Amino acid sequence: MKTAIAPIDIAKIRADFPILHQEVNGRPLVYFDNAASTQKPQVVIDAISEYYSTINSNVHRGVHHLSQLATDAFELSRQKVKTHINAEHLHEVLFTKGTTDSINLLTSTMSQGFVKAGEEIIISALEHHSNIVPWQMLCEKTGAILRVIPMNENGELIMEEYKKLLNEKTRVVAFNHVSNALGTINPAKEMIALAHDVDAVVMIDGAQAVPHMDVDVQDLDADFYAFSAHKLYGPTGIGILYGKEKWLEELPPYQGGGEMIKEVTFEKTTYAGLPHKFEAGTPNIEAGVVLGTAIDYVNEIGLDNIAAYENELLQYGQAKLAEFENMRFIGQAKNKASVISFLLGDIHPYDAGVILDKMGIAVRTGHHCTQPIMKFYNIPGTVRASFSFYNTKEEIDLMVEGLRKVEQMLG
Ligand code: PLP
Repeated sequence: MKTAIAPIDIAKIRADFPILHQEVNGRPLVYFDNAASTQKPQVVIDAISEYYSTINSNVHRGVHHLSQLATDAFELSRQKVKTHINAEHLHEVLFTKGTTDSINLLTSTMSQGFVKAGEEIIISALEHHSNIVPWQMLCEKTGAILRVIPMNENGELIMEEYKKLLNEKTRVVAFNHVSNALGTINPAKEMIALAHDVDAVVMIDGAQAVPHMDVDVQDLDADFYAFSAHKLYGPTGIGILYGKEKWLEELPPYQGGGEMIKEVTFEKTTYAGLPHKFEAGTPNIEAGVVLGTAIDYVNEIGLDNIAAYENELLQYGQAKLAEFENMRFIGQAKNKASVISFLLGDIHPYDAGVILDKMGIAVRTGHHCTQPIMKFYNIPGTVRASFSFYNTKEEIDLMVEGLRKVEQMLG
């Protein structure tokens, strides 16, 4: 059952994020680079210190007290992820280093017999390099063929073209739930169902979705779903690959080493069961534990509340920026997360970003690891403002003021 949307208590939320209360270049910091990485609430910062001050130890191996506490905390976090994304089984949740690592885990293991020469891999025109390059490497290794779902001027995938690409040779379909460069929300559920009609396996890059919306992997019927903790108010160096049990059982291990084995002899090694088969070596224990704290924090605010408030910021920001005569929005999908990519006249995005930084405003400029998107629009890059639930309309006003200066100086 969904809870009613509650107004965000912005003063209380901002008080939770110490980093926001500082000046940059003599101005109050305005942090609009949330799609790259989010800031951390005090509970997350405290949990890191708490972990090292109280239970630091290696997991899964020790019978001693601290090792058991660390293992329990690490596994509790796995449980929180399972609940958060509604995985059916706990062992379908794999800890990785992040989205990039999750995708590479998948492409690396799928290269070993799962994907065969002549089979087709479909990705989309909207992908982050992390969801392009590993599939290209897989194709090089296996002889599979890469196909790309095209997009329209608004930055939306063209569903009719996608349907045409799907056929009995399609082995894997991989696309992002939300585009980091443009904010487009892709119709993931519909796209997954279409892929399943031709028996293809689907991997969703959820790096930009998980911070903004309720994700239910069973409802989506995703075969794999990847995301990073650092974009979800958690620490860097930890991420998740969710995979359906049947695929994880079928795929070979990623890396060899400790933790992932059942028995090792010089003649033959047998592998541990899920999820450990895919978790060789000592994991990032502290980050794994603290990811659970970040998930608790986000859930306390409520993802529906977050989505509603961030959409308010998006609408406000778009309306304010539309007042510039020379504003060019890049990507205007109907269904969008709180990301605005734009260009102001002929001003190079890098120059705009440097001037905004002088005014304490952190935006991202450049290609956002999506060079094919920039090529599509024939532009060098964009200025990207991506909003979180700790941002405010007043901060958007400050950015608008900053952009007026940029226009004065360079326009
Ligand atoms: N996919 C998308 C859509 C992203 O936005 C990002 C990061 O910006 C990634 C993948 C890569 O994430 P990470 O660098 O945390 O591995």
